[in-house]
This record gives sequence, C-alpha cells and structure tokens, in this order.
Amino acid sequence: MAEKSTHDGGRHPPGAIIGDREGANTEPPAFLSNAEIADRLASLAQLLSAQKENPYKVKAYQRAAAKLRNMSESLQELVQDDADLTQYAGIGDAIASAVREIVQTGSLRKLETLRAQATPAVASINAHPRLDPKRVQRIYKKLGIASVGELREKLDSGEIEKVLGLRLAQHVRQGLTDTQAMLLYRADDLRTAVEEFLLGPCRAKRAEVVGEVRRRTEVIEELSFVIETGDFPAVVARLQRYGGRTPLVSSGKDDAVFALSSGVLLRLQLAGKTDWGLRMVACTGSKAHLKKLTAVTGPLRELKGSFPSEQVFYRKFGLQYIEPELREGYDEVERAAKNTLPTLVTAKDIRGDLHAHSTSSDGSDSIEDMAEAARERGYEYIGISDHSKSLKIARGISVDDLWAQIKYIDKLNGRLRGFRILKSSEVDILTDGSLDYPDDLLRELDYTVCSIHSRFGLDRQQQTERLLRAMDNRYFNILGHAMGRLLLKRPGYEIDIDRVVAQAGKNGCFFEINSSPDRLDLSADNARRASAAGVRIAINTDAHGTGELPLIRCGIDQARRAGLEKMIVLNCLPWEKLQPLFRR
Ligand SMILES: [Zn+2]
Ligand SMILES: [Zn+2]
Repeated sequence: MAEKSTHDGGRHPPGAIIGDREGANTEPPAFLSNAEIADRLASLAQLLSAQKENPYKVKAYQRAAAKLRNMSESLQELVQDDADLTQYAGIGDAIASAVREIVQTGSLRKLETLRAQATPAVASINAHPRLDPKRVQRIYKKLGIASVGELREKLDSGEIEKVLGLRLAQHVRQGLTDTQAMLLYRADDLRTAVEEFLLGPCRAKRAEVVGEVRRRTEVIEELSFVIETGDFPAVVARLQRYGGRTPLVSSGKDDAVFALSSGVLLRLQLAGKTDWGLRMVACTGSKAHLKKLTAVTGPLRELKGSFPSEQVFYRKFGLQYIEPELREGYDEVERAAKNTLPTLVTAKDIRGDLHAHSTSSDGSDSIEDMAEAARERGYEYIGISDHSKSLKIARGISVDDLWAQIKYIDKLNGRLRGFRILKSSEVDILTDGSLDYPDDLLRELDYTVCSIHSRFGLDRQQQTERLLRAMDNRYFNILGHAMGRLLLKRPGYEIDIDRVVAQAGKNGCFFEINSSPDRLDLSADNARRASAAGVRIAINTDAHGTGELPLIRCGIDQARRAGLEKMIVLNCLPWEKLQPLFRR
C-alpha cells in the first residue's frame, strides 16, 4: 500500500499521439488499438460483401467490428495474455482467430488475398469500409466515375441524389464521414465501459457523465465526464490506454479531449468537491439552456462560493432543480423560477405496452410468451399489434387469420387473472389514406395502431392528407411512428405535424413515442407539440420479441425530454380508463 503510484503512461505519454498522423511515421504501430483491429475486420466485411459472400457472414464481421471498437480492454493485451476472446458477446471462433492473427502478425491473410483480387472500383473504397461495394458500383456505373474523389464530388454537387435518389446519397455521405454520430442506446454501453475504466485503471475518485448522454439526446457525438482526482495528468495518461490506444486530441490543466475509436469524442472536465455542482451544470448544457440560465445566475465562470451539488446551485438562485432531460432552452428556467416544472413520467408509472408483435407476423415470440414477459415486468396489459395484410414483407396477417387471432386471445384472456392481452393490429395506412382491414373487423379490436410503411416518397402535402384522411376513420386510435424516421439511416417522410396534431385533437386520436432506439419517433419536439395540444401519447416498444420489452426505457427518456407527465401518457392509465378513450 505504501507504494506510490507513478505516471505509468510509459508506452504512450500524454501528447505523444498528437500530430502523429497516418503516414508521418513509416514504422508499423508498436501497439495495435482496438480501432485498428476493428478497421481490418470492417474492410474484410466489405470485400466479402463485394464477393457476394453469405450476408450473415458479412454481418457477423461488421457487428464484431462495431463491438470491438467499444471495448475498454485492449485486444492486443488480451491476445498476448492468451485470453479466451469468445467469452465476449458477438465474438465467435472465426472472429477470435482473425483477431489473434492480426495481433500476432500485424496483418490478415484473407484480407490481403481479397484486396489483391478486388476490382479497381472495390479497391478504391476499401479505406471507407462502411460504403457498400454493390451500391457504390451502381453509382460508378451510372455516373461513369471510378474513384472516391469523384464520388465525393458527385455527392457534393447533388448529382448522386438527383440521379440515384436520396437514400443512396445518404449512404455515401455516411460512408465518407469520419466522425460518427452514435445512437444514445449504443452510447450507454460505451459510457459504462469508460466510466468503469475511469474509476478502475485510471483511479479517478469520482466520475459522472454529463453532456448529451446525461440529457438523453437520442443521437450523440460526444461523451463527456466530470471527474474528481488529485492527479489529473495521470488520469489523462492512463486513459490513453483505453481500448489499446485512444489518441489524445487536446489537453489543458483541467480538461482533455480524446478521439474514441467508435468515432465520438471523449471529453473530461476536472472538478473539485466545492465546484462539483457548478461544473456539472456547465458541462451538462445545453447551450440554449445555459443561455437562459445565466441570464438569471450571471456568467458561470465568474461565480464565487461553494456549489458542491447541483441542488445547492439551483437553490442558491431560487430555482427548482431542473432535470437534465429538460435542459434544452424551452421554458424550463422560467418554470423553475415559478416552481411549476412538470413532474416527469418514470418507468414506475407505466402500466402496459400498446405496440408489440408476435410470431403471428414478424415477431420472434408467441403471444403467450409476450404476455408472460409483460406480466413479469409488472404490467397490467399488453397489446398485440401484428402487421396487417398488405405488409407482405413482415408477414402481415390475412383477414381470416386476424379473426382467428381475436378468438384465440379471448380464449387466453379467459384463463388469465389480473392481466389482459389486448386485441390490436398495426394497421397499414394505404396510399389513399384508407386502412388495411375492413371496418367490421377493425370494430372487433380493442384499439388500433395505424402506421405508414409504404410510399415514403409522397410529398408533404400528399403525405399529410393521407394521414388526415386515415384519422377520419373511427377505428383509427394511435398513429404509429409518426414520421417514419430511422436515426442515422433515413430522415423519414415529410408531414405537416401541426395539422396532424390538430386533427388528432379534433378526432380523439393519439400518438406514440416508439421506443425502438433507432426510431424514437415522435421526436421530443413533436411530442411537446402534441402534449401542448392536449393530445395523449403512448410510450410503446414496438417489441418484436420479449427481449425488446425493456427498451421502453429509451421511450421514457424521450418522453421526459418532451416534458411529459404521466397524465398525458396513454399507457399510464389502467385498462378501464383506457378503453373508453379508444371508442370514438
Ligand atoms: Zn411499424
Ligand atoms: Zn410495429
């Protein structure tokens, strides 16, 4: 115990990485970071996909690459210690042996062979492994080009979008971008790993996440922590060993920025016991919030006195404590001054789930298993809303089969005590705004979730009319994933949200916050509009298996960001109160 810890950044002292850009040094790196290993696997996946290799195999390499980028332990050290790599989720025998080969030989034979065989078009994009070779080849052919330089040019000039469409243009833009935004859901794993590394190997006394992750923004570009330590330079030195090697981008006497291999930045801010609360407020943000806050408090940098916690900070200025999810610069500072902040919905308030799939359509678990899992979560009900007949790709249910399912659920409910399976359907809204089942069938359901799954290309006017017409059907209850967005993949279709909210209010329809981490649709902003108009919102998982029911926490985060209280959340109501709301 008497041994004093020394700065152990022996291999990589702070600052050593700065300016050491690729190519500046012809020596092979002495130490392979997880990112460099992941890059090779991602390149391999790309070349395999170009060779029309089994898509599952390609996916396995892509998934493994993503997984390895987020690991805190150094793969090189694990291999050198002869550790069993297959103990990590997502790493099978093939990937473990590829990682060992990369660490032990510095290269991967299979990758080199495929590179040598690759067509020039494919070889040209191998430095950008997220580009899909098949799609890029289509663009090359259509536009008569053959290099990444030209690809970038055609992207910037808008020609790719004009000739080949928005989706392909977005794919190219993402593939060519170096810094990557990350879903909050994935960032949560990363946050846990970094936090443990800070408190463990880095020996920080205290570390708390701030910034976008703490505000629960659905997509993040930066992971930030406030930390307490007696030796900041030592923590900075040790953190550079995270994931084998994590380059330091910049550092000062009380802050430092690192480039994580997953493409997001990692920011550390030093704080002490007396300014902990003040630093937490400053680093949690957002900018818009701080602008309104400092109009009350004065500039944070100039504040004198002791602020050991955020509670103390807010109290000192006569403000209610403001939950991080609300710190976006809406009206939260005003309301905190008047003591009228909302009491945000929590997981405990949720009584059931109103959007779940079963094996009857494209889910992976039976109705009974979904019900059992929901009951184990303490729910009072679960709505089974399988896809409707037009959605062939998701095994939509025929009219006859839905009639049979209704009878089957009635029978199951007859055996259940203190729990109810709700008869529902995720009914497709067809192009003309009609619903995908006849009224006499819809009438037999407890309620419907109605969604758009086709013709995303309609313009704003047409898409809005489609929704308004659909809401005129008296069996329309909840609008599923209102904008159709997939975060980091596609923006969704365009609608006039204000008109749709007004129509929902007039007709007694509702919205959902779809909790799927890549949807979170409604956005927090749109959920605010709906609740301001008094339109209730369900927080639904859209679970396609029992394992996805816990993802409701992502939807709850989003609801809290929208300032929702439990009385506006549909599934905080018991079924007796809910049922009349679904009868129009
Ligand atoms: Zn859907
Ligand atoms: Zn669904």
